[in-house]
Amino acid sequence: MKPAPFAYHAPKSVEEAVTILAQVAPDDGRVLAGGQSLVPTMAFRLARPAHLVDINGIAELARLATAGDHLVIGAGVRHAAFHRPVVENPLGSLLAFVVRHIAHYPIRTRGTFCGSLAHADPASEWCLVAATLGAEIVARSRDGGRSLQAGDFFQGLMTTSLAENELLVEARLPLLPADMRWGFYEFSRRAGDYALAMALTTFHLADGVIDEPRLGLGGAEAAPRRIAAAEQVLAGRPPASALFREAAAIAAESFEPLEDVQADAAFRRDLVRAVVFRALERAAA
Ligand SMILES: Cc1cc2nc3c(=O)[nH]c(=O)nc-3n(C[C@H](O)[C@H](O)[C@H](O)COP(=O)(O)OP(=O)(O)OC[C@H]3O[C@@H](n4cnc5c(N)ncnc54)[C@H](O)[C@@H]3O)c2cc1C
Repeated sequence: MKPAPFAYHAPKSVEEAVTILAQVAPDDGRVLAGGQSLVPTMAFRLARPAHLVDINGIAELARLATAGDHLVIGAGVRHAAFHRPVVENPLGSLLAFVVRHIAHYPIRTRGTFCGSLAHADPASEWCLVAATLGAEIVARSRDGGRSLQAGDFFQGLMTTSLAENELLVEARLPLLPADMRWGFYEFSRRAGDYALAMALTTFHLADGVIDEPRLGLGGAEAAPRRIAAAEQVLAGRPPASALFREAAAIAAESFEPLEDVQADAAFRRDLVRAVVFRALERAAA
């Protein structure tokens, strides 16, 4: 099928984009970034936006740079930019490892980091990274800008706190301390498929015990988030398989499983137990 008719806008600056968005958003105007989620839904006519505001020609959105203690990722930055570490910091290697789990190579050359955040698919790897590390998400509209914390940004299944007239201009990820360990593990049925469950953890060791643990869960419930109960059990204890099993069991009881044709609630709880344990083992290795 072909998409329903739409008007096409190609702004050259953020200012121009938010001005157009202010006019067309009430008439179902949508931002077009990489198009890897939006265009298929338009082709199936599941989405019929009357206007597309294409941000691909906005040079200022291509920014990918460190600023202070953050990595700034502009709305034009594609997944493929992370195939190699973008910064000499544990964050660079973390992103380079995680990106290989997103779809397939051609999709990664078009899809954008910020498009994934705005789309908020529960199985998005970047949404999990943002929620676990505590990303700051910067939005602009004709009325001005605002900054949102990832914990408040993801509100449910494909739902964010972004207003319809707002452009997500950049995401800021905190750089990690040099001794920060990380572990990511994802289960999907085939390489390139969406995750049925995935976990990301970061922690470092202080005097042989786990310090500042973060444990995020994705693909398993409506929105990615940190699992505080599992983090609490990890903090202050030496890394060990028995401890990781305990944390994984707690995580498996601390979420509301999505149920679909691929996984019922019981299977997703099993998967969560497995992915959390393996992410922790990877971080400790
Ligand atoms: C076969 C296939 C497999 C895939 N597998 C995975 C996977 O395993 N993991 C994964 O994470 N993703 C996967 N994807 C999705 C892919 O990563 C998309 O690139 C991503 O979800 C959306 O990014 P985009 O830049 O393509 O956004 P678009 O498709 O252009 O837009 C998606 C939505 O976000 C909005 N939007 C985009 N950018 C902005 C912005 N800057 N401000 C405000 N709103 C915005 C759009 O209006 C639209 O509603 C897959 C896609 C396909 C086709």
